[in-house]
Amino acid sequence: MAAALYVVATPIGNLDDISSRAVAVLRGVHLVAAEDTRRTGRLLERLGVATRLSALHEHNEAERVAALLDRITAGESVALVSDAGTPLVSDPGYRLVAAARERGLAVVAVPGCCAAIAALSVAGLPTDRFRFEGFLPARAAARRERLKALRHEPDTQVFYEAVHRIGETLADLAEIFGAERRAFLARELTKLHETTYGGSLAAVRSALVADPAGDRGEFTIVVAGAEEVPAGQLEIERVVAVLAAELPPSQAATLAARLTGVPRREAYRLASRHAPTDDG
Ligand code: SAM
Repeated sequence: MAAALYVVATPIGNLDDISSRAVAVLRGVHLVAAEDTRRTGRLLERLGVATRLSALHEHNEAERVAALLDRITAGESVALVSDAGTPLVSDPGYRLVAAARERGLAVVAVPGCCAAIAALSVAGLPTDRFRFEGFLPARAAARRERLKALRHEPDTQVFYEAVHRIGETLADLAEIFGAERRAFLARELTKLHETTYGGSLAAVRSALVADPAGDRGEFTIVVAGAEEVPAGQLEIERVVAVLAAELPPSQAATLAARLTGVPRREAYRLASRHAPTDDG
């Protein structure tokens, strides 16, 4: 196999989703750099591949890069895999690929599964333009800030979320993007208990709560982009946000109504969305 870094996608659940080219590359390379060698070891065993494994995860990536690239420079071939799906997509590998490109080494894509693309392909939401957001910040205040910054984004948005935060994140999405915004939630794609929930953010949230298995598994959220917002409305929201950051919602609403001419009740609704949270 030609000396290169091969970036190889692996399944996100169903093992049959690995491509025959990916198996051939994993078998043919000198070394497989894996996020979790035990997990990839099990995959390679099922595929009948005996290639040597080496750990490359977020904690050792910086120090392992030079040694791996030296091997490729010396004529060896290395495959990079993550625990599931496409490396570098909310997974380690960015430093290695960037450094390989900087050294002028060959970097070869062996594409395949990606939960974001799989979810998008079945969501029934616009796909002509989309934005991959990956994981939102874990802390509630930072997550809500990020969502506020995204709420007028016109493109479809794709999020990854961990099971223990999926409820809170859907609640924040419904509150900040609006409960009626169209959304799609994919749970356990390609696996035995694959389930999808579609409709408004409110409906998706209720369906997940009602599902007895909804507290388990891996989740990808797809949310429709915002309707075009008139420029004047954005300015009103900016004024309200500045005031609400400093004042209680009722005072912020009174001042915002006076400054912008928007009805006080509307100003209050906007100001309440910006009220500071306890967790700062
Ligand atoms: N590199 C992977 C890819 O290409 O999709 C993503 C890795 S990221 C660490 C793991 C997250 O992807 C999970 O927390 C979940 O949000 C999403 N995910 C992975 N497998 C999934 C599946 N089978 N169904 C739904 N979402 C999945």
